[in-house]
Amino acid sequence: MAGLEDLYKEIIVDHYKNPRNKGTLPTPPAVEEPGTNPYCGDEVVVYVQVDDGVVSDVAVEGRGCSISQASLSMMSEAIKGKPVEEVRGLIDEFKEMMTGAEPDAGDVMKKGELAALTGVRKFPDRIKCAILSWNTLGQALDKSDDNA
Ligand code: ZN
Repeated sequence: MAGLEDLYKEIIVDHYKNPRNKGTLPTPPAVEEPGTNPYCGDEVVVYVQVDDGVVSDVAVEGRGCSISQASLSMMSEAIKGKPVEEVRGLIDEFKEMMTGAEPDAGDVMKKGELAALTGVRKFPDRIKCAILSWNTLGQALDKSDDNA
């Protein structure tokens, strides 16, 4: 399994060093939602724009540990262009993958790069780092619903 762990580490470092969708979006039409993880000092800001029930654009900013920032970057890639319903399902699936029963290896592989974050399960203190951006995304979508 060492090979897989190395690969997971590489994916996390890549997203940490080269964050995807970094920046801001004009609000409105996008909504802006900040999130913090005081246990580690991680900070994120998630911007989402929803048009006709689809996450048409997303931008993210943040600072903190590599796990929190890599998760933020991967999340932004995973949700862009997807229907809000599907994105909400993905939030639940991700949290289950990180905190639920040991996930099925096949299901994890279907998650693509997000699978790299399952290595964090071994470090319970860091799970909050990985989940921060996803909780913040959920709050951003709630806010977006209110604006609709
Ligand atoms: Zn952290």
